[in-house]
Order: sequence, then C-alpha cells, then structure tokens
Amino acid sequence: MDARVQQFMAMIKAKNPGENEFHQAVQEVSESLIPFIEENPKYKHAKILERIAEPERTVIFRVPWLDDKGDVQINRGFRIEMNSAIGPYKGGLRFHPTVNLGILKFLAFEQVFKNSLTTLPMGGAKGGSDFDPKGKSDNEVMKFCQSFMTELFRHIGPETDVPAGDIGVGGREIGYLFGQYKRLKNEFSGVLTGKGIEWGGSLIRPEATGYGATYFAQEMLATRGESLEGKTVCISGSGNVAQYATEKVTELGGKVVTLSDSNGFIWDPKGIDREKLNFIMDLKNIRRGRIKEYAVKYGTEYFADQRPWIIKCDIAMPNATQNEINREEAETLVRNGCICVVEGANMPSTIEAVEVFLNAGILYGPGKAANAGGVATSGLEMTQNSMRLPWSREEVDERLRIIMQNIHSTCVRYGKQDDGFINYVKGANIGGFVKVANAMVAQGLV
Ligand code: NDP
Repeated sequence: MDARVQQFMAMIKAKNPGENEFHQAVQEVSESLIPFIEENPKYKHAKILERIAEPERTVIFRVPWLDDKGDVQINRGFRIEMNSAIGPYKGGLRFHPTVNLGILKFLAFEQVFKNSLTTLPMGGAKGGSDFDPKGKSDNEVMKFCQSFMTELFRHIGPETDVPAGDIGVGGREIGYLFGQYKRLKNEFSGVLTGKGIEWGGSLIRPEATGYGATYFAQEMLATRGESLEGKTVCISGSGNVAQYATEKVTELGGKVVTLSDSNGFIWDPKGIDREKLNFIMDLKNIRRGRIKEYAVKYGTEYFADQRPWIIKCDIAMPNATQNEINREEAETLVRNGCICVVEGANMPSTIEAVEVFLNAGILYGPGKAANAGGVATSGLEMTQNSMRLPWSREEVDERLRIIMQNIHSTCVRYGKQDDGFINYVKGANIGGFVKVANAMVAQGLV
C-alpha cells in the first residue's frame, strides 16, 4: 500500500474502530484519490478527503415494536447522512440482522460517489436496521416499519433526505414506511422512492438496478467488440437486483445459469428463462421461500452453503451482498475464462478480489458505477414527484439507458490508462469525486 494511503487509513481506523467494511470502502477509494488529490492541491488544502470520510450527521435510535404473540421486540435504527454538497441526502434503507454502523457507513460513503456519477443532484446517505423481515408476518413488518418511521420522520423530508429500499426493504416495506410518514406529517410528498405506481412511484424503478447493471455490462463489453449475445452469466442473489438483471440479460441474448440466496445456489445449465424467472419472482416476492425450491421444481443441482463463482461463466454479476467474492473465488472466475465482472451489489468483491480482476486485465465494473441505475431512477422518481407528472415506461427506461452510458463515459474519461486499459475503479472514484469536491470547496467549511 502507498505510504500516503497507509497514513490516511491509520487515521480512519483510529477514528472509526471496528468498522471493517467502512475501512475497506474508504481504502479502495483513497487508493484512487490520493494520487489525484496530490495533483490538485485545492482539494488537499480544503481537506476534502478527510471531510468526505466523516458523515455530516449520524442518527441512531431505538425501535420498539410488538410481535404477533404480544411480546416486546427491540431493534436498532440508523440513518447516516454522509454528504449533501450536491443535493438532498439520498440512499436506501437496509433491514438485515447483520446491519451495524460500519456497514451503513460504508454504504453511505459509496453512495456519495455513486449519486454524483449519475449526474443528478443527489447527496449520499444510507440507513436501516438490524431487523430481519425473514419469517415475520406482514403485520409484524408493518408494526416495525411504523415504529421505525416514528423516529426517522424527524430527520428526513423531500428537500432534506429521501430514503429508498435496499436489502430487505422492497415495495411492501416502502408502503408501510410511506404510510406512517404521511400520517405523522400530514403531507403527501416524494419523501421516499421505490413507491407503488398508484401512489407516486416511477415505472422501471423496481427494474432499474438490475437493468442498469446490465446496460453497464453492455457498454463495457462493447469496448472490446463484445456483447451479451450467447454469453453464459453467473448471477448471485435472487432478490430485486438479481431478478431484473436475469430478465434483462436474458432479453439481450445472454444465458443466466445461477442464482443464490444466503443458504446456497442453484445451477441450471439450460438457463433461467422467462417461465423459470416467474417462478423465482413468485417464490421470493410473494411466498418468500428459499432458492432450493427451484432445484426441486426444475430438477437442477443445488449447492448448499456455497457461492456460484465455482461455475464456469463468461460474465459474473454479484447481486447479493458485500464481500461475496474473495481472492480464491476471483482467481477461479478468471481461470475459468470470465471476461467481465459487473457488480449489481455494493462492494461484493474484497480488495484482494478486485486486485485479481485488475491484474488479469478483465472488464471489472465496480458497484458504485454499475449499480447506480437504481438510485438514478430514484432521482427520476423525485423529478416526477416534483412535477406531479409521471413518465411512461419507455421514457424512464431510455433515460436510465442514457445515464448508464454517461456513467460509463465518465469512467472511461478518468480511468483510461496510457496502454488503453480502462480502470473502472479509478474512473468511478475520481469521476464521482470531482463534482462533490468542487461543490464542497465552493460551499466553504460546512
Ligand atoms: P434483496 O433483499 O431484494 O435481495 C438480496 C439477495 O441477496 C437475496 O437473495 C438474499 O438472500 C441475498 N443476501 C443478502 N444478504 C446476504 C448474505 N449476507 N449472504 C448471502 N446472500 C445474501 O436486496 P437487493 O436485491 O435490493 O440488493 C442486493 C444488493 O444490491 C445489495 O448489495 C444492495 O446494496 C445492492 N443494491 C441494491 C439497489 C436496489 O435498488 N435495490 C441499488 C443499488 C445496489 P436471502 O433472501 O437468503 O437473505
């Protein structure tokens, strides 16, 4: 590690002890940014890097609720408002038992750069709770969401902070959260995105992250004269991002052969077609079952407690969670001929795995660029809410496609090396940084 990065990281670790995912995210970004900042002293003098790694505000709160048995349950709620230099705070809510301060700070930090890359005026935030929606009744989920919003509503607002969904927070949860906000504030506004289409949502928002990551893959492949046509694709996860990535990859001629959940993965060498994807959507979104049921239904192989990266593929799309590809798995992917890794999830590859991809010279699209289509379309939902005028499916999809192309161009602009190799990590980090940094310099010490 560069000595300047080492020194900076020592400070970050001392100030944020035990927040390993946050350290990881900051290290990855500072490796790109520190050399860039050395060449641009105005950022150095204003201590932009030090300031950008410190949340503007962190809110942590108690969330008490009553379960169906009448027992009291207590969870912890968070909102990390990381940066508002270029727009209101914006970023998802995650409900998952692993949620803690360090994970949400990493996500909020990444969100600042991602939102800047979209070209839309959105600052960065993230929030959530250690609440586990799995195995809870609709009534319990509603009670939890109402209690969570009873505190969160003081800190958010359509001009202040606009949360959205993430792991464990889909249309159902956004509905309960929105209902409670509306009741507490007596206002119908665009305070959350990912809303239902009848009550202020945007067409294509549910599809946007998976579609956007697939459009980004198309752009990356095109730089090498390749396309998705005929490619074998390994996808992890089976939630929102994984489902719509599967849909779009298949539509564009690729063959998705794996999907997973936290218990294991299925391998279907024939490919997951429309009918099979409908089964997954019903299984995961309605019946809330396990991916193993796919293997039973279609007679395919199921690998308990394993991740899909051992399966030979041309393209890998990690769409589940952070640190789901380690060094060995990255090496296996490269050895098996994988030419492109595109991250629908946030920070799914460890730092060592990223090194393997970059050293192998394959196409590697980091999450903050590749999965920015979700928040970009949330931004489009905010625009439609402000105009009080919904756009058609085609219009939103076209805007999403253009935004993903623009993000790709930004990565090329800042990440193309003299030998022609496009380092998308560097491109996304510097490309996302410049706008926020300039705004911070202009706004003085705030
Ligand atoms: P969902 O909750 O819809 O799905 C998450 C999927 O990942 C599920 O299949 C889940 O399995 C699996 N998963 C979650 N945690 C783990 C874990 N610790 N180990 C193994 N598998 C796990 O979430 P999304 O699809 O919305 O999010 C997936 C990723 O994409 C996350 O990294 C998120 O931050 C990122 N993302 C999402 C955006 C969005 O618009 N939704 C936007 C940008 C990024 P199980 O059901 O067993 O928990």
